[in-house]
Amino acid sequence: MANYDYDLFVIGAGSGGVRAARLAAQSGARVAIAEEHRIGGTCVIRGCVPKKLLVYGGEFGQAFEDARAFGWSADNVRFDWRTLRDNVQAEVTRLSGLYRANLERAGVAIFEERAAFVDPHRLQLGRSGRVATAEKILIATGGRARPLACVGADLAISSNEAFLLDALPKSIAIVGGGYVAAEFATIFSSLGVETTILYRGAQILRGFDDDIRAFAAAEMQRTGVAIRCSADLDSIAREGDGFVISLRGGETLRAGLVMAAIGRDANADGLNLEAAGVARTMNGQIAVDDYNQSSAPHIFALGDVANRLQLTPVAIREGQAFAETQFYGRPAAFDHADVPTAVFCRPPIATVGLTQHQAEEKFGAADIYKADFRPMKHILAGNPERALMKLVVHPVTDQVLGAHMVGRDAPEIVQMAAIAVKAGITKTQWDATCALHPTAAEEFVLLREKAR
Ligand code: FAD
Ligand code: NDP
Repeated sequence: MANYDYDLFVIGAGSGGVRAARLAAQSGARVAIAEEHRIGGTCVIRGCVPKKLLVYGGEFGQAFEDARAFGWSADNVRFDWRTLRDNVQAEVTRLSGLYRANLERAGVAIFEERAAFVDPHRLQLGRSGRVATAEKILIATGGRARPLACVGADLAISSNEAFLLDALPKSIAIVGGGYVAAEFATIFSSLGVETTILYRGAQILRGFDDDIRAFAAAEMQRTGVAIRCSADLDSIAREGDGFVISLRGGETLRAGLVMAAIGRDANADGLNLEAAGVARTMNGQIAVDDYNQSSAPHIFALGDVANRLQLTPVAIREGQAFAETQFYGRPAAFDHADVPTAVFCRPPIATVGLTQHQAEEKFGAADIYKADFRPMKHILAGNPERALMKLVVHPVTDQVLGAHMVGRDAPEIVQMAAIAVKAGITKTQWDATCALHPTAAEEFVLLREKAR
């Protein structure tokens, strides 16, 4: 039997890699992990966590406004970007330290350098030049922001740089219409930056329920985000302190900063996968089966680098399933159906299960229940923000196929609804749930009239 340095070598200390490495090491396996940037990966260092903290930071402006009707005066309110930025970065550093401590406690050997394949069982470490061998290798290298392809593409920042700006620009143009574009448009606009989304299609947030998309786009526009659809970039050029963006068709617009948010590509280039016999999909992701196994039987991949969903809890669950299967003798495959997800825009979107369109495609028809209302707190505050809730129900079996919401606390509410949807609850059972009053969430269990 070959004598390897490690039973498992994990490439990438992000959400998925850290979970897999820790659990594998706790089984008694000899485990190492390599990280080329900072321990914690995208979610902790430049994704979910710092993003959500910036969203929280932006919410105070509206809260100060709303406070007046409740008797508070908040005069001379000022905002300092550097204070928020630096506090967020300090929290990121604290969390990264916790991840490191957890890995060390589990006995995982940490290499803070890049790893790439030499052959199927050997990895070369970037800085030290050391070669490590492992019986099994897990690729958990995540993704990276896709660059724009137009002339002057290099002038645009990505979300990575947005966290670290020296100062906020007066205005920003964000290219793309997905999660990152919607969330950063909200962050920038709520912090006082004149914000424009430039999206190539007819409506942002493709993939979400159409009612949710329209409602969220209208709410974002109402709060000051300009959304320009059918906008294809031709070029970006410097002009004075800012940039001029030329659209196909000849129109130009100016912005103090341009940010690209057009998706994320798998971080699989430069791993020398050919030397290991690991196949990639047409999109460059690593192709894996339900058990995270790649085309090379001892090499596995999960999280954003694999050809599935790009969400932190998914990477974590895949890491857990991988460790259970390979190191605890309990074959486990994470079920990717009914994964809840949220877009932390203003107001936020949260969703689980099928959209109306998906249900109609799959079952020929769907029963729809909707509520569009202004939460009690907003009415008193004179805040026009509204909320939309929508249930998609199987027309024959009565099963709740999808729950969708735009509105304050939507991610918190839909996380709970996801339990019921995942469990296959029927609308009749859903209706048997008593309301919790007074809440916005109670509207979800009071949906009785089918929408026409
Ligand atoms: P990652 O967390 O990306 O970790 C991969 C690690 O591998 C990185 O640290 C990288 O430096 C390292 N690496 C890469 N190549 C090598 C190499 N050759 N050698 C050594 N190390 C290497 N998801 C949510 O669920 N909720 C959110 O709110 C959310 N917000 C997000 C906001 C932003 C701005 C972004 C960009 C993403 C967000 N995501 C969110 C997505 C989420 O961050 C990812 O799905 C998740 O981090 C994927 O985990 P992972 O383990 O696959 O990869
Ligand atoms: P998304 O895939 O969500 O959105 C990409 C957007 O860019 C889409 O609007 C897409 O348009 C557009 N686009 C794609 N290619 C081009 C192009 N060549 N030119 C112009 N526009 C283009 O990617 P994001 O970068 O926003 O986020 C990446 C992933 O990270 C998300 O899908 C999600 O999985 C994860 N994430 C999760 C978050 C959360 O859970 N809250 C937050 C942030 C990221 P079209 O729709 O027409 O294809």
